[in-house]
Amino acid sequence: MDAGTAQPTLLHAIIESAPTALILSDSNGRIVLANQEAERLFGYSGRELQGLQVEALMPPRFRMRHPDLRNGYQAGPSARRMGSGRDLRGLRRDGNEFPIEIGLSPVRTEEGLFILSAVVDISERLRSERNFRQALESSPIAKLIVDAEGRIDFANDEAARLFGYERSALAGQPLELLLPLSVRDLHPKLRAGYLQNPQVRRMGAGRTLHGLRRDGSTVPVEIGLSPLDTPSGPLVLAAIVDISERLRIEEAQRQINEELERRVAERTAELAESNAALARSNEDLQQFAYIASHDLQTPLRGIAGCAQLLEKSFGENMDPELREVTRRMVNSTVTLQMMIRDLLAYSRIETRQDSVTDVSLQDALSDACGLLDAVIVESGARIEHEPLPTVAGERTQLVQLFANLLGNAIKYRSRELPHVRISAQDLGEQVEISVADNGIGIAQEHHQRIFEIFKRLHNQQTYPGTGIGLAVCRRVVQRHGGRIWVTSQPGSGSVFHFTLNKQQSS
Ligand code: ADP
Repeated sequence: MDAGTAQPTLLHAIIESAPTALILSDSNGRIVLANQEAERLFGYSGRELQGLQVEALMPPRFRMRHPDLRNGYQAGPSARRMGSGRDLRGLRRDGNEFPIEIGLSPVRTEEGLFILSAVVDISERLRSERNFRQALESSPIAKLIVDAEGRIDFANDEAARLFGYERSALAGQPLELLLPLSVRDLHPKLRAGYLQNPQVRRMGAGRTLHGLRRDGSTVPVEIGLSPLDTPSGPLVLAAIVDISERLRIEEAQRQINEELERRVAERTAELAESNAALARSNEDLQQFAYIASHDLQTPLRGIAGCAQLLEKSFGENMDPELREVTRRMVNSTVTLQMMIRDLLAYSRIETRQDSVTDVSLQDALSDACGLLDAVIVESGARIEHEPLPTVAGERTQLVQLFANLLGNAIKYRSRELPHVRISAQDLGEQVEISVADNGIGIAQEHHQRIFEIFKRLHNQQTYPGTGIGLAVCRRVVQRHGGRIWVTSQPGSGSVFHFTLNKQQSS
């Protein structure tokens, strides 16, 4: 219905049936009609409102001014909210006040100008608004409510603290006050854009945002936006978090990481350098051992030849003391020759990645037995083995490994016939091979040192040897990425264990 003329009966019917409190008053402010909802709201019943002055429905302090306001409205009547922005109050019959909102519409009838007031009790709304603001007040996060024009409608204590203002100094100010100059011009456009498509979201994704403090300093912030749909129009709630501390920690972490990376790089370079140096000195050493043992062989052969010649030529006529000396000389040269030969073999152990293939340990073992055939037969040794796996390695070295361990198991036998058992255990990536014998055993204190070069526990007379066999075993196993150790007790045999990597292609 427009603000033009209206049929009184029709008007009455509409007013009565409306779910809102409606009051129709005449130009003098006398209530002509009030619906049931209006009676309920103001605490009246049975048409009691009819005939009353509208001023009866407002607290006395508003009454004086009201006739003037009414006359003003009648001078230029239009449908509008009453007293917008002012705190309007209704008065119940029992004397209680309550907050209201009033919509006014002029109604022209043949009987003159009437004013239709729609009255809404806004106590509930104000209470939830109050609760909402209280929740914002107590938040440890800075909160601002900004209206559609970009004015700060509300700022909590934390927001005031963050930006260095008194709370009262922020209310009503343009939001741009809190923005660095560099983004100030751009911001109203961003704000308008947000209002076009308001949703809960983070602001300035991917960028570091800054706020401007009262003292002119800036503070890095993170901002979350939520639109608030309120009866007084759309508002935006901004939650602002000072992230200086976080950025400081991130920066410190970045610096620490950089420093760590730098140190790791330095250390890696140093390691690479010392590895290279080690490789060089290893090579030098190998070269040296090779040349030395090679070159030593010739004069040694000379000495051995001379000693044997001496023994052969004068053996019978020789003074017994001299003969003994000559015999010892021959023995020593033979031992020395063996040592040089073994040292040469040791210095040659070098596992090159390209010579690594899949090697069946079963085949390697049977090759080793082949090498030791004479010794095995002569000693009556029994050699048993479980099925053995295939490993990644260099075949000749693995044959050597088995030959050295089997040779020792037979050499260091007890009174019993030698019995050697070879077994395998799956360790996942690796296999562990055990070579167990029933020989003389080894005391605990020697378990480590027997793997060192030239370390022997016996003299040549009791058990001949050069003390290189286990050093070779250790070198072979280590070059294959495994380890070797012994478990043994004197008199109870020995078990040599070693690990190797499983075959590459499975
Ligand atoms: P060699 O046998 O030439 O002396 P090795 O390096 O092979 O040199 O062995 C070092 C020492 O370890 C040996 O002198 C011996 O005392 C001890 N040994 C090695 N294998 C066994 C074994 N199966 N039983 C008892 N002792 C052993």
